[in-house]
Amino acid sequence: MGTLFVIATPIGNLSDIGARALETLRSVDLIACEDTRHTGNLLNHFGIRKPLESYHDFNEEARARELVQKMAEGINVGLVSDAGTPAISDPGYRLVHFCREQNLPVIAIPGPCAAIAALSVSGIASNEFFFVGFLPSKKTARLEKLQSLRAFACTLIFYEAPHRIAETLEDLQGILSDRKVCVSREITKIHEEHAYGLLSQVRTQVPAIGEFVIVVEGAPAAEPAPIDLTGLSRQQALKAIAGHLGIPRRQLYDLLMKQDQ
Ligand code: SAM
Repeated sequence: MGTLFVIATPIGNLSDIGARALETLRSVDLIACEDTRHTGNLLNHFGIRKPLESYHDFNEEARARELVQKMAEGINVGLVSDAGTPAISDPGYRLVHFCREQNLPVIAIPGPCAAIAALSVSGIASNEFFFVGFLPSKKTARLEKLQSLRAFACTLIFYEAPHRIAETLEDLQGILSDRKVCVSREITKIHEEHAYGLLSQVRTQVPAIGEFVIVVEGAPAAEPAPIDLTGLSRQQALKAIAGHLGIPRRQLYDLLMKQDQ
């Protein structure tokens, strides 16, 4: 039975290729890739020659079935995408899914991923984050998606293309309001830059050239609603405050009695 190796490749700087990625690319029987020319250039750079099979969004299902069949016959397959980690806003998920369903071994050869690289240099909370990837291209669907993310308290990560970066930053400010953001452009490439600040400040600083990751701060914690005790009896006030704090009235009463002692 063959193994599927999911191999991350550089997102710009070719020196970011991992030693294990190279070893695996050299050892597999065939490499499934998005664009045979693109991956061919990468392999040439490292002096590797291997049969390549194109595997992209349009033929994903049919090609995945063929590859799974080959693996069942003992062929080891390396899966790469044009850049970064396969299956992360890239084709690959379906092949991995089929392998899992058929109990075929899948091994990770981790490495560059634009979302993680951008998060790591963003200075925005990284303990909890939500990877959105690309927003829908149609305006209404984009705005609806952003509305659904408005109350998320965790950091949000978006991928964006140069022709839509300005509009996306404008929509982010319009719907999420003015939050901290880090827009990372051309990570690991010559013109790498990171614009950090409020959305209103950063929006105007970002040139519409290159590849982008947008890391946005989560929604601020909601302010507790003010509590109005006017006209309430002591008992009613106690009940209202206990409800506000989310504790039983008796517990609040005991706490207050302890304070008096
Ligand atoms: N699988 C890839 C990964 O692991 O990051 C992502 C592939 S997705 C089709 C391509 C998008 O990733 C780009 O449009 C951009 O948003 C982001 N991206 C890829 N390389 C980048 C880079 N060097 N700098 C900034 N963003 C990048």
